[in-house]
Amino acid sequence: MNYFSTRDKSLKCSFKDIFLRGLAPGGGLFLPSEIKKYTKEDLKRLSQLSYNDLATEIIFNFISKEINKDELSTLIEKSYSSFKENEVVKLKKIGNINLLELYHGPTLAFKDIAMQLIGNLYDYLQVAKTKTVNIVVATSGDTGSAAIAALSNRKNINLFVLHPHNKISNIQRKIMTTIGGANIHNIAIEGSFDDCQKIVKELFNEDDFRAKINMSGVNSINWARIVCQIVYYFYSYLKLQKNNISFSVPTGNFGDIYAGYVAKKMGLPINKLIVATNKNDILQRVINTGEYKPDKVKPSITPSMDIQVASNFERLLFYILDENDGNVRSLMNDLSSKGSFNLKKNEIEKIKKDFEGIKITDQETETIIEEVYKKHNFIIDPHTATGFGAANRLKNLGDIIVLGTAHPYKFNDTIKKAIGKILKSPEHLKLNIDKKEIFDIIGNSNSDVKNYILSKIQ
Ligand SMILES: *Cc1c(COP(=O)(O)O)cnc(C)c1O
Repeated sequence: MNYFSTRDKSLKCSFKDIFLRGLAPGGGLFLPSEIKKYTKEDLKRLSQLSYNDLATEIIFNFISKEINKDELSTLIEKSYSSFKENEVVKLKKIGNINLLELYHGPTLAFKDIAMQLIGNLYDYLQVAKTKTVNIVVATSGDTGSAAIAALSNRKNINLFVLHPHNKISNIQRKIMTTIGGANIHNIAIEGSFDDCQKIVKELFNEDDFRAKINMSGVNSINWARIVCQIVYYFYSYLKLQKNNISFSVPTGNFGDIYAGYVAKKMGLPINKLIVATNKNDILQRVINTGEYKPDKVKPSITPSMDIQVASNFERLLFYILDENDGNVRSLMNDLSSKGSFNLKKNEIEKIKKDFEGIKITDQETETIIEEVYKKHNFIIDPHTATGFGAANRLKNLGDIIVLGTAHPYKFNDTIKKAIGKILKSPEHLKLNIDKKEIFDIIGNSNSDVKNYILSKIQ
């Protein structure tokens, strides 16, 4: 199997190439040339597997050229040994909602599930054996700490994490800026997540700079992240033993929910994928009106979803536009020249076959946290609450699994406001977040970031 780009179907890259690069040349995103399709009988067999064995089975389809199955299985065991739950994730019933807790890893958000394995893949694929790799990543709050936990103190790897200054929660920032070793560099950009992501994409597209620092990326545009996230759609669907299940997914960069779309393509009979957005509702708008028009990012109580340019949406567009790379290029050109693009009626209908888009306001999110606590004595984080809110609006869909994307402790200020309780740190979080925080504040500029990186690696 090879990988090509959404903007250039003629590309033929290996998993190792795309793992290292993240973003395709010319700005597109990588996609696999084949997607394995499981039959009903296959699904029966998969439903018997433990989380780790299922992960081995699913992920192997995408990287079978670079690793044998036993070695992959060993890497997966190792990656998830730090999780609090033996089965990595946990499915719970909260009222009429099925909650899939994805936040039992070392930094308390679903990002750990992909990042722990990615950290070990950097070693396994020996990408940094002879030459130091410099990873540059943008974070809306949770990717950064997950990447730091996975890559801290790895040989020949430096990690530069760009987060939007003062726009993530205190605990998110404290985890990020206190757990790293000497190879970790935290940068607070005076701008939004979109600004951080834009700078990272620009650096990837500057061939000289990219080559000079041997740059790599672990943002959700990296296909390896998506692959790891497909696993829990299969796991939870098969565990629930029902038919026609929908998933409600708190969404920002469209990475997590895109993994659900790939799971559906692989034969998992998902009914609808529900995109829950906050007031940064570009995805809700494009699904319901066809207009994709990024606005200015508005800060919310769900900072990990404060994103307007949802990069992974381009991967869906590729299929909606009948796998025509030229048409993807042309819409992306419209986006950069006119600031928006519009989908045709039949294209919107295609999206609506698989997706629903629901916006949940901050006020609603707070109310949901309060209601769930009062009714079920259970505390959910604000991101997960948007997933609950969207699911509640679509009760006629039948069984819904809501992805629990972060532990409430990470957003303890909002929780305190909603239910008046001060949460304690979960015991397995072996962090000392009262340690001195280490990060530098830098202007929202491509060249400032480049100079900073160069100053650190020389
Ligand atoms: C990253 C994140 C999201 C959004 O996921 P995307 O893959 O960017 O759509 C939602 N909730 C939490 C807690 C996150 O960390």
